[in-house]
Amino acid sequence: MLGLSPLDYFHAELLTQWSPSVTLIATPNSGDSSPHMDLLTKAGVEVIHGEPARIAADGSTCTAVELVDGRSVPAEAVVVHPPIDYTSDIADDLGCVRLDDDAIEVSELGQTSVAGVYACGDIARRSSAPSGMHFIARAVSDGLNVGAVLNQELTFNDIQAKAAP
Ligand SMILES: Cc1cc2nc3c(=O)[nH]c(=O)nc-3n(C[C@H](O)[C@H](O)[C@H](O)COP(=O)(O)OP(=O)(O)OC[C@H]3O[C@@H](n4cnc5c(N)ncnc54)[C@H](O)[C@@H]3O)c2cc1C
Repeated sequence: MLGLSPLDYFHAELLTQWSPSVTLIATPNSGDSSPHMDLLTKAGVEVIHGEPARIAADGSTCTAVELVDGRSVPAEAVVVHPPIDYTSDIADDLGCVRLDDDAIEVSELGQTSVAGVYACGDIARRSSAPSGMHFIARAVSDGLNVGAVLNQELTFNDIQAKAAP
């Protein structure tokens, strides 16, 4: 596994479900490895600090990750989890609060910090929810809930407006 963010210490632990031989190449972007070393060691994950230069292959078969300092780490497969970069700045223009991973902070019902503005999918999460839970099922489920709440709010506002003297 190429460690490109602190989340990849966790990903490397998960990969031990798939392979008895997992190596994490911790790049400088992985951050401090020391808080994770106890669990990684127990999980049998080898941690190598370095920067990847290229993936070596024999035909279409991956054989190793070569590091910029000349070391070569044998590998039958390389797992990469690119860090997420949210490209839309609509939420910032509207003044919505973001969390430390840049996700828009929402309530259980998808309400952002700005009244009348809702968010769902990859770009939004509750502060109590784990970061990086990007799945189609979650995005669809959140979208359904937020759509229903939003429709209810708009309908309620319309009724209130019509009923106003
Ligand atoms: C390589 C990869 C593999 C994945 N594999 C899986 C998988 O196997 N199973 C799984 O469950 N999930 C998988 N995911 C995650 C899944 O794709 C996402 O969780 C899901 O697509 C999130 O849906 P979304 O609607 O929140 O965001 P997106 O699908 O990213 O949709 C957001 C849309 O908004 C558009 N947009 C952005 N800015 C603007 C703007 N200013 N104006 C108008 N439109 C805008 C974008 O172009 C995009 O079409 C994978 C993700 C990646 C990147």
